Amino acid sequence: MGRSIALILVLMMLGPMAGCINEEVTPTIPKPGCTDSTASNFDPNATENDGTCFSENASTTVEPEELEPSASEGCTDINARNFDVNATEDDGSCNFSKNVILMIGDGMGWEMVRMAAIYNQVMEGNQGNLLSDFYTEGKGSGLAMQELSGFQSVTTYSTIVDGSTRNSLREDTGSNVPTASEDYRDIEFDPRNNLVRYNIELGGTTPWDSRYFSNNGSTSFDPMYITEDDPDSAQTATTLMTGVKTFKGAVGVGLYERPRSSLTNVASDNGMCLGVASNVPITHATPASTYAKVNSRDRLHWDSISSSRAGDDILSWFNQANGLDIMLGTGNPNTHVGDHYVHSSYLDSFESNENHTLLLNSPGASDLLKSAAQSHDSETDARILGLYGSIGQANLPYSGANGSFEQSGWGLNLKNGPPSDRSRDYGPMTKEEYIAKEIDENPSLADMTDAILDACDEDNQGFFATIESGDIDWAGHSNNIDALIGAVNDFDKAVENVIKWIGENGGWERNMLVVTADHDHYLTLTDDFPNLIRSNSALDLAMGGDIEHMGHYWGPSKSDPYGSQSHTNRPVPVFYQGGCSQIINQSVGEGFDNYGQYVGGVSGFVDQVHLHLAMRAALIGDCLHIPVVYG
Ligand SMILES: [Zn+2]
Repeated sequence: MGRSIALILVLMMLGPMAGCINEEVTPTIPKPGCTDSTASNFDPNATENDGTCFSENASTTVEPEELEPSASEGCTDINARNFDVNATEDDGSCNFSKNVILMIGDGMGWEMVRMAAIYNQVMEGNQGNLLSDFYTEGKGSGLAMQELSGFQSVTTYSTIVDGSTRNSLREDTGSNVPTASEDYRDIEFDPRNNLVRYNIELGGTTPWDSRYFSNNGSTSFDPMYITEDDPDSAQTATTLMTGVKTFKGAVGVGLYERPRSSLTNVASDNGMCLGVASNVPITHATPASTYAKVNSRDRLHWDSISSSRAGDDILSWFNQANGLDIMLGTGNPNTHVGDHYVHSSYLDSFESNENHTLLLNSPGASDLLKSAAQSHDSETDARILGLYGSIGQANLPYSGANGSFEQSGWGLNLKNGPPSDRSRDYGPMTKEEYIAKEIDENPSLADMTDAILDACDEDNQGFFATIESGDIDWAGHSNNIDALIGAVNDFDKAVENVIKWIGENGGWERNMLVVTADHDHYLTLTDDFPNLIRSNSALDLAMGGDIEHMGHYWGPSKSDPYGSQSHTNRPVPVFYQGGCSQIINQSVGEGFDNYGQYVGGVSGFVDQVHLHLAMRAALIGDCLHIPVVYG
């Protein structure tokens, strides 16, 4: 310390005089060394060149290049699917496409969701007695789907031509040939004339809009408005798949009956894995809209139509291998439904087609499906086709609200004797034996969902999956809240599995989940439903009887509790998260382009067109630009 201070004092004293005394105070002791600054052994302290300078240029110019990794081209963005850790130069190949999982609860309007959600909360011990003790706004809770971060209300309306929602703009809709004719009506699509639209003043916002229960002097509100020009599953699924509004019954075709590019096509073009699952027949409207393009949902297969042209039916589209990797549903012609949904001649061709792994009802069906899916390589393998169905019905075995399958299948119909089946043995059995057999010989919707994830999860390009519960709609048509709650819960189990899978497979950055309905049904809960469902079984309430103690009614009025109501045009829920969700967030109240025309939005709502655009953007991998759907 002392020496340092002394040195500083000396320097301070010398400073001002340095110019004149420098030569005298600078040490003059010579220091030999290499004084050539370009030499490898240059010594900055040397004062005399001692002749030792040398250069290593010849040997050192190569080594630095050998030490650095050589430049390689590839995707350098860590967020891309094909990020290359060794790439130093981006070659523009980055693929940001996201897995998209679309889950459709057929007929699952806001009130169906609320009924199942409240039922679950009551079963878990919630002591509330009135609807207001649970929820009367917002997304609610009680189901896995309600835990997704995003939710909106979605309009589902169809097109309308000459006063009918079943007309296309083709003159000859009845000819059933979607693209063969150019014989069009002498009108152009006009959003003002050719869309049903949705009017909040007339129909309200949700099933719990107060105007359904007390008309506070409103001169315009009409509880029957939502039953006019209601949508159907074919038309709504087609809008979700293709982004265009269309006519009822249309499968994959627009208002001019021309085939439209669908999410399936986008995913297929991107080389992605494709999966479809439904608990109703694979030729039914919703699953059909993922792969077929025909002008009528009734054109199941060539034998289902009298004036058919070859190939112009739903099953022919499926048979033409259009990139589907795994397709699971019901319609096995060996069951008692026979040839109605899938003609047995197709089954023969599937069995002999080495491009199909055909799975049918058999003991241990879930495990067989699981192992087939887990060993599937979506880049090389043949597609998996699973055709199932419970013996007493056209769908999978379904559970009631209590989770049991006692109301499902042939067990209900023992009095009719053993069912016919082409391949399975149905001798005399007890009800319990029938049910056990059906559960064993069919996968559940959640099993099917897992199978798609297993079959597609290693695809480098990602995948697009559509999972549908048709049971929810069928329970609605049956006015059966026991089957309805069971169906929503079975569907929700599949949703829960998907959410869990996403958490373990890239999270929400890499995946987009959209859970929605295609259309609504006219169900109304009474305020004391929670109290009634606590002390009665859902089956008791479903059976009806005393309207004051049913907790619900179908349609707008207690005075006609089974008013043979059906679908409605009321907006439905969408719960969503991940991927390009921001496009849905940004679309509230916004319009969209269809057939070259601008269609104005409905304030506070998104449309199924917007859901399509968000999913399409996610499959493309660009959330910043809303895709254009060309008319
Ligand atoms: Zn329906």
